[in-house]
Amino acid sequence: MAYDSENIFAKILRGEIPCNKVFEDDFAFAFHDINPQAPTHVLVIPKGAYVSMDDFSANAPEKEAAGFWRAVGSVAREQGVTGAGYRILANHGRDANQEVPHFHVHIFAGRNLGPMLAR
Ligand code: AMP
Repeated sequence: MAYDSENIFAKILRGEIPCNKVFEDDFAFAFHDINPQAPTHVLVIPKGAYVSMDDFSANAPEKEAAGFWRAVGSVAREQGVTGAGYRILANHGRDANQEVPHFHVHIFAGRNLGPMLAR
């Protein structure tokens, strides 16, 4: 699947639509999810143009891949959720109901998150 540069997260990265930003460095950008599923629900996205986890893991240069995953950990620390705990999640493709075709990791925290998957 080719990257669609008009997807909503690409527009957020370009500053064309607003977001509630919490973090930015050379490799990643993070903002609050518009429809939070937990008291803390932050999305972390790479600055590079990757459709999904599959695209990112196959094609991101080492520096970008390492920088992105370091940023995910930094965002969780900055959100103050490492003590009580948090969950990360990345939806890839149809069966996971990925909605936005720019790779993103969800960080959920702030309450007991229950079982790993909804049944
Ligand atoms: P996914 O199903 O993993 O692709 O998740 C996409 C997420 O993006 C959902 O949790 C949406 O609530 C969130 N989302 C969609 N549009 C925006 C937006 N403009 N700002 C923040 N979050 C958004």
